[in-house]
Amino acid sequence: MSVPPSLATPYRTHTCGALRADDAGTTARLAGWVHRRRDYGKLIFIDLRDRHGMTQVVIDAADAPEAHETATRLRSEFVVGFQGEVALRQPGTENPKLATGAIELQARSVTILNEAKTPPFYVNEPDAPIDESVRLKYRYLDIRREQMQRRLVLRSRLVQAIRQVHHDNGFVEVETPNLIKSTPEGARDFIVPSRLQPGTVYALPQSPQQLKQLLMVAGVDRYFQIARCFRDEDMRGDRQPEFTQLDLEMSFVDEPALMAFVEQMVIEVTHATAPERPFREVPFPVFEYAEAIERFGSDKPDVRFAMQLFDVAPALTGADGTPASGFRVFDETLGAGDRVKGITAPGLGGATRREIDELTETAKRFGAKGLVHLAVEAGGELGGPIAKFLAPDTRLAIRELAQAGEGDLILLVADRAATTNDVLGRLRVDLAARLGLADPDELAHCWVHRFPMYQWDAEGGRWDATHNPFSGVLPDDESLLTTVSGDLDDRSPDDPAGRARAMQYDIVLNGWELGGGSIRIWDPTLLARSFNLQGYTLEQMRERFGAILEAFEYGAPPHGGIAIGIDRWAALLSYQTNIREVMAFPKTQSGSDLMLEAPSPPEESQYSELGLRFVGAPQRP
Ligand code: ASP
Repeated sequence: MSVPPSLATPYRTHTCGALRADDAGTTARLAGWVHRRRDYGKLIFIDLRDRHGMTQVVIDAADAPEAHETATRLRSEFVVGFQGEVALRQPGTENPKLATGAIELQARSVTILNEAKTPPFYVNEPDAPIDESVRLKYRYLDIRREQMQRRLVLRSRLVQAIRQVHHDNGFVEVETPNLIKSTPEGARDFIVPSRLQPGTVYALPQSPQQLKQLLMVAGVDRYFQIARCFRDEDMRGDRQPEFTQLDLEMSFVDEPALMAFVEQMVIEVTHATAPERPFREVPFPVFEYAEAIERFGSDKPDVRFAMQLFDVAPALTGADGTPASGFRVFDETLGAGDRVKGITAPGLGGATRREIDELTETAKRFGAKGLVHLAVEAGGELGGPIAKFLAPDTRLAIRELAQAGEGDLILLVADRAATTNDVLGRLRVDLAARLGLADPDELAHCWVHRFPMYQWDAEGGRWDATHNPFSGVLPDDESLLTTVSGDLDDRSPDDPAGRARAMQYDIVLNGWELGGGSIRIWDPTLLARSFNLQGYTLEQMRERFGAILEAFEYGAPPHGGIAIGIDRWAALLSYQTNIREVMAFPKTQSGSDLMLEAPSPPEESQYSELGLRFVGAPQRP
């Protein structure tokens, strides 16, 4: 154990969380904020708070009349200094919930260091409901609250542990600039007009991707950075226009070596940051993308609970493989080459009509045309509106595929493969939340890898990189990086490229994509091929990725990396589902900073210096 640093200053001998029974009889000076004040006339009690804790201070008119006189003026959130004697509390009045609860400071003198207006919300009520916009406008008061302090401290420990583990493993921390050229990660760029070169702009990095790869060409070997990234996209609970990534890149690694380092790093960092949280499974389970979709209906499966998707087709087809269930929707779906799949909700067999309607509505909101339900009744028979259409054998086979027992509810979706998987995948998460299937303490990591390299972009007539335009292709699939005609400019949805799998991996935690990365294409010819399939002309390639293409002609080592969202990681370790809860100064859904009132119109002179003119906001249709 390291010795805690002394936080003594001219204002205090101790913090508000430090004094214990052992200190009784000594004198101490404390400084902090008035958390609560109880005025009993001759006796005034103050709960004095700082980040480190709280100490009860008592000011007795009989012992210290002058201090008592000053203390009558104290109000919530005043900043105060006290000096006095540490004393054991009266027997029976100790507060076991408080680390300092055995003692109190009997004040001899009181100094009001600063007064405070009445805050717009109770800083001292942890459970008071406060509108988030008020919290964001007065973030400095919000952060005074214990839960925010706790989260920011956890986040600080997280970053400290990340730095430690990387330094221990031969990484160099390198800062990369924020004023750069566009590095696409699938979002819109934020741009910054240049004053010195009118008519040109910098882009804020969506990630340091190109720069970290250039650092590998530069021989840095192992790089990491706590990097700020900027992406102009619509916001959700797990997104912000600027966010922080642990960005890393390693040379002379293949996919297993990289994943092994990252997994070990994640384990060590978690132990250092939140040692009490149990891991569900180590080593982390690894799923191929196609398998994750098939089993969990998601490429970021929450593996804290099972409830896996099952294929109903074997129960619905005859011996010759033709659909013969007797239920038209199923037969037509399978006949068209689409999918019928299901999940089993344990114990929901007795769901009321209203609950079933609600589930059906949810499934429709997720994109399903409908939701079929079958309840396992007493004796194992299946009940539900469509049960009568199905032969007894079919019903039995469905129940077996569903691994459903008495009292369970089987939910089925029949649709195109992508819709079926997606709807059931979301329903799985939704039901698990309703049924409380996940242990909230548990940390369930997994890897998903071998994503498709590309997806067809019909509008652009090109193969869009699914993740990162620099991702490498699995060596086995390298020959697929081509088109039907062999001409890379003549692309179509049937091209072999659509079947190529990338050396790309995501790390998932409790159903959230924590991070993702890839082993890169380091061979300039193959990279040019991949860019070509992505629809970049030679000229566009030079313009957008000129530096990297050129650098690769000077000897690029095999390399790969990953980026892990620090905001998401800190949120999950703090039991939060919204990353704003672990960011000191986040923005609202519409991208506003309510405290600083940003964004705001520029000064007239800023326009002219930049050679810009505002021509009005685009009309919304
Ligand atoms: N640059 C990627 C991202 O920000 C991560 C990586 O491939 O290393 O998502």
